[in-house]
Amino acid sequence: MATILSDDTLGALAARLDGSRLRRDEPLAPYTTFRIGGPADLLYDATSADDLANAVLSARALGVPYFVLGLGANILVGDRGVRGLVIRNTARQFAFHHDGRLWVESGAVLGRLIPEAVVRGWSGLEHYVGIPTTIGGAIWQNLHFLSPAPARERTMFIEEIFTSGDLLKESGERASADREAMAFGYDTSALHHTRDVVLSVTFQLARGEPADMHRVMQENLSWRGAKHPWLALYPSAGSIFKKIEGVGAGRLIDQAGLKGFRHGDAQISNVHANIVVNLGHATASDVRGLIAIAQDSVWEKFQQRLEPEIGFIGEF
Ligand SMILES: Cc1cc2nc3c(=O)[nH]c(=O)nc-3n(C[C@H](O)[C@H](O)[C@H](O)COP(=O)(O)OP(=O)(O)OC[C@H]3O[C@@H](n4cnc5c(N)ncnc54)[C@H](O)[C@@H]3O)c2cc1C
Repeated sequence: MATILSDDTLGALAARLDGSRLRRDEPLAPYTTFRIGGPADLLYDATSADDLANAVLSARALGVPYFVLGLGANILVGDRGVRGLVIRNTARQFAFHHDGRLWVESGAVLGRLIPEAVVRGWSGLEHYVGIPTTIGGAIWQNLHFLSPAPARERTMFIEEIFTSGDLLKESGERASADREAMAFGYDTSALHHTRDVVLSVTFQLARGEPADMHRVMQENLSWRGAKHPWLALYPSAGSIFKKIEGVGAGRLIDQAGLKGFRHGDAQISNVHANIVVNLGHATASDVRGLIAIAQDSVWEKFQQRLEPEIGFIGEF
C-alpha cells in the first residue's frame, strides 16, 4: 500500500494547504462510525468552506485523487486504505436568520446543530436526532427518517427544508443550486452523478415550540434505541442494504436465518438484520464477506437481490 504521491506532489500540496493539518499515513478507522479502515496517504482537516474548496481545487490541480469525508457514517473504508488525499470536512460555521433561514457550512454535525435550533424555537431538524451525519453527507444522500408517531407516520426527507446550496462545481466554479437542481430522491441526489462538492447549505426552518420538539426527539430516540444496535457499543454504518419496496431488506435477511450470524468480527445485528456491526476487531474484508453471504442466502431463498447502500472507499 505504497503512497502514490511523489515528494514533489506532497510538497506542492503542503504549500497550498495548511501543512499543520496535513497528516501522512493516517489510519481512517477512527474517522468512521464502523471503526474500520486502513490509512489514507494523506488526511487533511478542512476547517472552513473556503478551505474545503481550496483543498479540492488543489488536489484537482495537482492530479491527486481525493475523497471528501464527513462523519464516515455511510461508508466502508478498505483495509489497505485510501490512495491520495482524504479531505475531512470540519467546516462548521452556522448562522440563524430572523426569518427562519439557517445558513450552515457543510461539515457541521447535525447532532450539534439540532439543540442550537431548538433553543431558538426553530423546527425542522429535530426529526433527524440520533442520526450521525454532517450536513454535506445528509445532502449527498437526502437524509431521511420514518417518523414513528402513529398520527404522523411518514418518511421525512432533508430536502423538505433545503432551499439552496453553495456548490463547488466539477468545473471549479462556485454556484448556487436550488432544490430542483439537487435532483433529490430516496437515498440519492445530483451529487451521486457529479463531482460537485457542497460547501454550505441554506435551510428554511419553521417556528416551533421547544416542548413539542423535545417530545418528537424523545419519541424518535426511543424508537431508535429499541430498533437499532447502540452505535457506541456496536459500531456500524447504519443500514447496509438498500430498501426493497414492500418487502424490507432486513426482513429477508432475518427470514434467511441470518440474524446474529458472524463472519470474522463482523456480525448481522441481533437487533436489526439490515445492520452489520463491528464486534471489536472487524476488518473491511470481514464486512464484505458477510455482505456476500447475506446476498447469496437471500438470492437462494427468495430470488431477491440485496444491493449495498453504503459506499466502498479505497483499496480492499
Ligand atoms: C447508527 C446509524 C444510523 C443511521 N440512521 C440513518 C437514518 O435514519 N437515515 C438515513 O438517511 N441515514 C442513516 N444513517 C446513514 C448515515 O448517517 C447517513 O448516510 C449520513 O448522511 C452520512 O453522512 P456523513 O457525513 O457521515 O457522510 P460520509 O459517510 O462521510 O460520506 C458519505 C458520502 O457523502 C459524500 N459527501 C460528504 N460530504 C460531502 C460534501 N460536503 N459534498 C459532497 N459530497 C459529500 C462523501 O464523499 C461520500 O460519498 C445511519 C448511520 C448510522 C451509523
